[in-house]
Amino acid sequence: MEHTFVKLPSGNVEIEHIREMVSELKKSEWKLMKWFSRPALIDRKSNTATHLYMGQKFDEKYFKLEDKGWTHDHCEICFVSIGESPNDYTETEGYFNGYDWICKFCFEELVLAENLEKKLAILEQYQEKIYT
Ligand SMILES: [Zn+2]
Repeated sequence: MEHTFVKLPSGNVEIEHIREMVSELKKSEWKLMKWFSRPALIDRKSNTATHLYMGQKFDEKYFKLEDKGWTHDHCEICFVSIGESPNDYTETEGYFNGYDWICKFCFEELVLAENLEKKLAILEQYQEKIYT
């Protein structure tokens, strides 16, 4: 099947993914803010943050709770990483809806676009066959 990819500043993203995410993300209220860490559950075995902690029950045997355990997020549209330190992460601020993050470019250019299809048509695109 042939897929169309759009060249965004942080990488190439499938056009259908952009369309779906934008129509979904438009439903939330977003606020530009500096990225901040959130509590996370750390897998004791691998010592990595596997879940955002939202007050859910967890097994102390397998997980520990760290207040600032969540080290970065990814833009919902282009997947660019958003984190605290400009040395480690591409973006240090973005739009936040209380749960998800969107990078500035994707929010301002795509989510806020009056006509998304027009906007997408301006951006460079290419086709790629994906064999599954
Ligand atoms: Zn983005």
